[in-house]
Amino acid sequence: MKIEYAERVNRLPKYIFAAIEELKLQKKKEGIDMISLGIGDPDLSTPQLILDEIMKQVRDPANQNYPSSMGEPEFREAVKRWYNVRFHLDFDVDMEVTNLIGGKEGVANIARAFVNAGDIVMCPNPGYPVYENGGTKLSDGVPYRVPLLIENDFLPKFEDIDTKILKKAKMLYLNYPNNPTGAIASKVFLKTAAEYAEDYNFFIIYDNPYSEFTFGDYIAPSLLEIDPNHIEINSASKMFCMTGFRCGWAVGNAKIIEGIRKIKSQIDSGCPIFIQKAVIKGLNEYQSEKKPKIVKDNIDIYEKRRDILIQGLNKIGWKTDTPKATFYVWTRIPEDEPNSMDFVKKLINIGVILTPGIGFGEYGENYVRFALTQPTNKIKEALERIEKVLNK
Ligand code: PLP
Repeated sequence: MKIEYAERVNRLPKYIFAAIEELKLQKKKEGIDMISLGIGDPDLSTPQLILDEIMKQVRDPANQNYPSSMGEPEFREAVKRWYNVRFHLDFDVDMEVTNLIGGKEGVANIARAFVNAGDIVMCPNPGYPVYENGGTKLSDGVPYRVPLLIENDFLPKFEDIDTKILKKAKMLYLNYPNNPTGAIASKVFLKTAAEYAEDYNFFIIYDNPYSEFTFGDYIAPSLLEIDPNHIEINSASKMFCMTGFRCGWAVGNAKIIEGIRKIKSQIDSGCPIFIQKAVIKGLNEYQSEKKPKIVKDNIDIYEKRRDILIQGLNKIGWKTDTPKATFYVWTRIPEDEPNSMDFVKKLINIGVILTPGIGFGEYGENYVRFALTQPTNKIKEALERIEKVLNK
């Protein structure tokens, strides 16, 4: 029997991290103590208040059945309330709010609902790989890579995109605060993006999972404050350190929400009810746009780590800017290094794991991403090890 993958699967990129994985395992076997600043997964625990609620809700048999894939009515109400206190926006819970099994699921499934074979989808590059792969390519669409360059503050420069592409494009993914660059978008930029969308007739999927991952007095906006005709995706993953619980939501344009619901109702059975109920508890802690204590306590820890890493890198001569948001630090590799992959391999040899920029697309080459997911003593240790390599 000859079994062949569908063409759309063959279009997925080769797994470029395989060589890194192998090297990591080998170094571990050699007994090297590895410090992983690679994966963007919070190491801090979910707030106790939310954990207690899960324990309480999971025991109730009513919460053990199939959920509704669009989300329980109370969940959608809580999302509506959160958008109201956090961004001063109002949504119709029946038409404009839906639950997701994490943001990733929404980012991918939205393309199934709206992309026909050959349609162009604009994907930021460097960017979260799901836009191009799980979303666009697995829906038989054609990704157009929108460069995010340092000279443009890692924002798309719409005037540089060929108008033929803009006219043909069906959707644009945007993500600020941004993974991997840590860049933020002003309301002025969001207005420009919304104007291009209006002029060229595409819609924007505003992927906003780091909206609460902001430092100092910076407060991240929602695209829907500027133009409610688009759609925004967010999740409990980063906000409440709940990556493993898989709960997110999409809000905005009723037609787009309906499309996501159509796809989901044929594919999944939703996020467990007891998880939705626990996330409600977390969302209800918000009384204004200011972060409640359960969120702020964790963000303060990441902010300290960020400062230690940035100061340390600059001290050892590796010039790096301070991001205002996300738990990522994106920085150019030293001048004499050939490329991001080889540089990352070099650092694995001394037990420090980073993500090579090329993993986020061609415009990520010559950068690396640090994730602030280690305690400060480990970050300091990583800096000491890196200093030895740089000064060789
Ligand atoms: N979007 C971006 C930009 C991300 O970085 C991530 C996770 O790292 C996600 C979406 C998905 O998050 P989740 O599916 O956990 O909500």
